[in-house]
Amino acid sequence: GSAHIVVVGGGVGGCTAAKYLKLFDPGLRVTVVERNPVYLRPYGSSEVLNEHVTMQDLEVSYDTLKNNYGVEFVIDNVVGFDPQARVLRTAGGQSIGYDRLIVSPGIQLMYDSYEGLNAAVAHQSLPAAWIPGPQTALLARQLRGMRDGGTFVIGAPPNPYRCPPGPYERAALMVEWFGRHNPRAKVILLDPKDKFVTDETMLLGWNRLYKFNIPADYRERLESKVEVLEHSRPSMLSWVRGQDGGRILGVDVAGNRVETEAGMVEADVINIIPPMKAGMIAMDLGLADESGWCPVGRRDFASTLQPDVHVIGDACIADAMPKSGFAANTQAKTVARAIVEELAGRPSPEPIWENTCYALAGTDYGLFVADVFRLIDGRITRVNQAGRYLPLDASPMQIRLAARYQQSWLRTFTEDCFA
Ligand code: FAD
Repeated sequence: GSAHIVVVGGGVGGCTAAKYLKLFDPGLRVTVVERNPVYLRPYGSSEVLNEHVTMQDLEVSYDTLKNNYGVEFVIDNVVGFDPQARVLRTAGGQSIGYDRLIVSPGIQLMYDSYEGLNAAVAHQSLPAAWIPGPQTALLARQLRGMRDGGTFVIGAPPNPYRCPPGPYERAALMVEWFGRHNPRAKVILLDPKDKFVTDETMLLGWNRLYKFNIPADYRERLESKVEVLEHSRPSMLSWVRGQDGGRILGVDVAGNRVETEAGMVEADVINIIPPMKAGMIAMDLGLADESGWCPVGRRDFASTLQPDVHVIGDACIADAMPKSGFAANTQAKTVARAIVEELAGRPSPEPIWENTCYALAGTDYGLFVADVFRLIDGRITRVNQAGRYLPLDASPMQIRLAARYQQSWLRTFTEDCFA
């Protein structure tokens, strides 16, 4: 009979791979094994916090992939496999045979990295909300209920992590929201790093929208290209970088305080986004190395540790490609193509990958980074040089348009992965 491709994880990477396998070769049997009956999309999930969308708006159904593409779904937790016999095992006791396995399990959050924090505490009172679900809803409730003039602390994670511009976008959207709902509130972004992707355009947005004073080293670079405003009063938003002691050491949950290298920070609502690793099942299947991520052949994302397995999305090591939905989607397409060609005994084409991360500095203030990647000396390497970002001298119209692009990307992207 025809080959059976089994996919672990019905998220961005897994569903895109399943859909494109069926598009490239409708005769293939494709089964996705996913623990949740409905997908909650992480991308755009900070917009639940600023009440732009609801939790229900994050829900994505698998019906179109089932009904229109003939992808089979097994709703169950994957717990192990026999890589020699090529059989996957689920918590519900199913054994699923495969010819090729694609694993796209996303991330796990390493809560225990900080003294005083663990998964139970995060679930009860100190949500990370970086994998959407009850923690997202909890954080949204906490932010609405925050006392007048209270302080919201966001802890940004160390590299590498899911969605590099994400913590900065979340901070910006909440400053904007507090401006309307709790104008004496403060947002403190604690960061072990000194810079991030899209930092120049994001800081400029903060400078214009939230009276944020740009740190001197950035200001020097920016001032030659664009006007930077000097604000005499403190902004609602502060960004405590690694060089300023922004690295988090621990949390005093009862006292509502975060301990950083620079000292104790008092808070009313705390949102620590902890360090990350590949999803737990990647460890259980022996797909991750000591870095906590999954090494793969860069051409076809074949695991270097297990036979007949491909790892894509946030979980894999993809060099210059970020851990983004866009990246997971473009990786999924090249893997689907590579598998179809390999099964047919044909060589697969030299892959080219893309990534665009849109981000918002405010509801009507969009920005982005857009890149193209190719294989150079066995590594996924960015090949575009100029024009990666929204120009620093972008007009107000271009900036509003970038925010529209972000919103339409959310829709068309979800369609490309799941419909
Ligand atoms: P996921 O989409 O997380 O899918 C993994 C799936 O595997 C999940 O459905 C999970 O339930 C399932 N799974 C895991 N383990 C098992 C198991 N043992 N058994 C069965 N099922 C299992 N990306 C962008 O490109 N643009 C953006 O603007 C953007 N914004 C973001 C904003 C925020 C706030 C966040 C948190 C993320 C954002 N992202 C964005 C990142 C994007 O959501 C992720 O990079 C993307 O979802 C990764 O896809 P994936 O397939 O690796 O993992």
